[in-house]
Amino acid sequence: MIVTKDLTHKWFTLFAEKVIQEKEQLSEYDRIIGDGDHGMNMARGAQQLITLWQAVPPVHLSDVFKQAAMKWISGVGGASGPLYGTAFLEMAKAVGAKEELSNDELVTAVKAGFEGIKKRGKSDIGQKTMLDLWAPAVQDLEKDELTMATLQTALTKTNELKATKGRASFLGDRSINEVDPGAASSKLFFEALIEAGEF
Ligand code: ADP
Ligand code: MG
Ligand code: MG
Repeated sequence: MIVTKDLTHKWFTLFAEKVIQEKEQLSEYDRIIGDGDHGMNMARGAQQLITLWQAVPPVHLSDVFKQAAMKWISGVGGASGPLYGTAFLEMAKAVGAKEELSNDELVTAVKAGFEGIKKRGKSDIGQKTMLDLWAPAVQDLEKDELTMATLQTALTKTNELKATKGRASFLGDRSINEVDPGAASSKLFFEALIEAGEF
């Protein structure tokens, strides 16, 4: 697969649309193990990005990541704003001036996003955060085995974890068998990639 600006634009537009569509559900997950605002936070950035692109569509491939990063950093708030914002910014940096990405280059960019979240969040896999969705998604993407089904499996595995980072960690054992809202929104991010790439 060749990843172009158009494909990436479609990817992030689909992601934004999914976030807006799933806003209530994402906040519902966050009501159970957090403070109930994840859907609202994410939908704010998503709407701002859609509005921006309706006026001025992105020109270069890296613009897609950069503009999404700006909207998430300035508009989303909470823990998720800076974390997704950093991920998108690191992806933009990995892309640089390239206007097309090979599969391997796409994997490199997504990995850079994952590392950005880890660094910004001082977090790691196994703590029941968005990282636990990103890690298997990146692995599956690398093996060319990323599907809606593998994403569902990844989210289900995340449910079983006990939260040790972020607000959900205050719940301790009571976070087990609940859905992490950030992992759920990250699933939408990778679903949007699958749909945009039709792979
Ligand atoms: P807040 O917790 O500030 O209200 P959100 O509700 O928007 O922010 O986002 C919560 C999500 O952010 C969690 O479900 C989790 O996936 C993710 N998260 C929180 N802290 C971290 C961290 N340190 N590293 C990675 N992800 C994190
Ligand atoms: Mg919250
Ligand atoms: Mg909050």
